[in-house]
Parts: sequence; C-alpha cells; structure tokens
Amino acid sequence: MHKINSENVAAVLDLCAKAEHIVITGHRSPDGDALGSTLALSHYLSAKGFQNKVILPDDYPTFLHWMKGNDEVIIFDAKPDLAGGLIANADLIFTLDYNDLSRTGSMAEALRNSKADMVMIDHHQQPSDYAKFTFSDTSSCSTAQMVYDFIEAAGDVALIDAEMGECIYCGIMTDSGSFRFPSVQAKTHRIAAQLIDNGLDHAKVHMAVYDTNLLDRLRLVGYALSEKLEVLEDLNVAIIYLSKEELDAHHYRAGDTEGLVNQALSIDGVKCAVFIREGNNKVKMSFRSKGDFDVNEFARAHFNGGGHKNAAGGAVSNATVLEVLEQFKAAISTYESQLK
Ligand code: 5GP
Ligand code: MN
Repeated sequence: MHKINSENVAAVLDLCAKAEHIVITGHRSPDGDALGSTLALSHYLSAKGFQNKVILPDDYPTFLHWMKGNDEVIIFDAKPDLAGGLIANADLIFTLDYNDLSRTGSMAEALRNSKADMVMIDHHQQPSDYAKFTFSDTSSCSTAQMVYDFIEAAGDVALIDAEMGECIYCGIMTDSGSFRFPSVQAKTHRIAAQLIDNGLDHAKVHMAVYDTNLLDRLRLVGYALSEKLEVLEDLNVAIIYLSKEELDAHHYRAGDTEGLVNQALSIDGVKCAVFIREGNNKVKMSFRSKGDFDVNEFARAHFNGGGHKNAAGGAVSNATVLEVLEQFKAAISTYESQLK
C-alpha cells in the first residue's frame, strides 16, 4: 500500500511520462464517484500533457452525462473490440473506485490479461494486491477526494479549473450523501471550498444530479415506498424489493432507484436496509446501515459482495427477486443480537 504523498505521486507521474498509452478505468454500473473520479483524473493528466482514455465497463445514468469528457468515455460493453484493444495496448492503467478487478464485470478479463503497470486509487475496504501503486484510503469519503489529494500532493491545485472541479465535487457529493455521511471530514469541506475558489459552481452540480428527474422515476419511487417497503420490526431491518415487471412498468432506467435504499434506512430505529432489484439475469442488492452493523462483512459473507461498513452491495445470479428476498431474510435473522 502506498500513501498519497509528493514522492509517490511524482513516481506515478514519472510512469505517465514514460507511458505511451494510458487508460483510466472505473467499476461496473458507474456511479457519480466512478465517473467523477475517472474524468477528473483524465482532465488532470491531460493538463499535464499526458494523453489518456477513460474506459468504463457499462453504461451509467443520464444524470451524470453533463460532465466534461462524458462524450469521450468508451463503454467496454458497447465497444468491446475497441476498448479491449486499448486495454491490451496500454502500458499504464489507473483503476479507480474499485478494490478488485472482478468489480469491472465483463472488462475484468481484459484487465487481468494486461501487461500494463497498474495504479489503484480507491476507498473501498480490503483492496486486492494487483497494482504497482496501491493508493487505498478507506477513511476517504470518495475516490474523487483521493484524486484531489493526488493533485494536491503533486502541487497542482492551481490546475483544477471549474470543469475538473465539477467532476471532483460530483464524486464527493454523491458518495457522501451530499456531505452528510460520517465519512465526511473537515478536509472534505476544505476541498469543496478550494474547488469553489477555483471556479466551481457547486449549485450546478447538485441541480444536474438531483433535480433532473423524469415523472416515471418519481412514480416508481412512490410505488416502491407505498407498496414494496417492508419493515422487520423485530430486527430493525427495512427492505424494498422490485421485480423486473414492476421496473419495466415504470420504464426503469439506470439510476432511477439510486437513493431508494437510503429512504428505507431513514426510518426511525431501522439499523439496516436493503434494496433488492431484479435485473435481466441477476438480482442486485444494495445494503446500508446506521452505526456498528457492518454491511460490508454481511455482503461478503452471504451475497458475494462487499463495499464499505455502512454501504455495500452484492448480487445473486439466476434467481427471482422473491427467492433473494427469502435468502436475505434467512441470512439477516442470524444477526438479531447485533441489530437489537
Ligand atoms: P450501491 O448499493 O450504491 O450499488 O453500492 C454501495 C457500495 O458497495 C459501493 O461502494 C459499491 O462500490 C459497493 N458494491 C456494490 N455492489 C457490489 C458488489 O457486487 N461487490 C462488491 N465488492 N462491492 C459492491
Ligand atoms: Mn466511491
């Protein structure tokens, strides 16, 4: 593991100077932090004169499309030959906002076969050991904040313009629940202040991400909260689950259920919440907790997942939403003493 300090950052920038083909990657189902951190690093490296390409495994919500550089992002699933060729050709690959290559879905094999030097910048628990430089900071609220730390350690804060600042701010804002999770540090606010000093329009970022809903999305959220929210009173657990038919009926688009699990967690007394969503051939789960209950451990132990102590995810292949609901209830009931 490496600290983000001037010496290590200089060594990474030296690798960039020597590299002919630099690729920057993020995790599957990219969120505001995956996109914000990869694009921010991309803009920074470009500003330093290092050409690079951002490759993400699959598509992401339209409420993230406003970021500068969005149009140049290459989606692996949409262009596997182009993206695979770029990865095979790369001599330096940054892996951002994920702790294991398996988190990149169908892109993982291309990355595993790559001979490139890798640089991880990430804030998830238990990072795997595949990179030449492993910048892992589980105390950081977001990978975007770590990209800021990286730029700062290089002495390049002055290079952060309004658009690079928007990318960093978007990553911090979305992963910190708009600056409210315990992961927010005094430093997080100092970074936001510095970004504003450098020209960031923070209100624009909040509006672009949170105030661009379609009516279908609001109706889906309303339906989920009124019809599909179940509270296990004895366990202090709340569950929301949606089938493929229910999602289709509301013209579900990626990102439409973002934040739903936090609504379930917001119920007074609830210590753990899960959102279960049926996809095409797998059922995706989002776990959240308040306080000591560790959903990273829970997701690892029962649902082949992981993440952070208070926010994690997992998935079950070839099952229905109702089957996974029962699996979850069986698994969580063994934690009664911790949830009481
Ligand atoms: P979300 O519920 O928002 O999809 O994810 C919450 C957190 O858990 C994120 O930090 C995300 O990267 C992580 N996460 C989500 N799904 C998975 C998964 O299937 N495996 C692992 N290891 N982490 C996940
Ligand atoms: Mn993140």
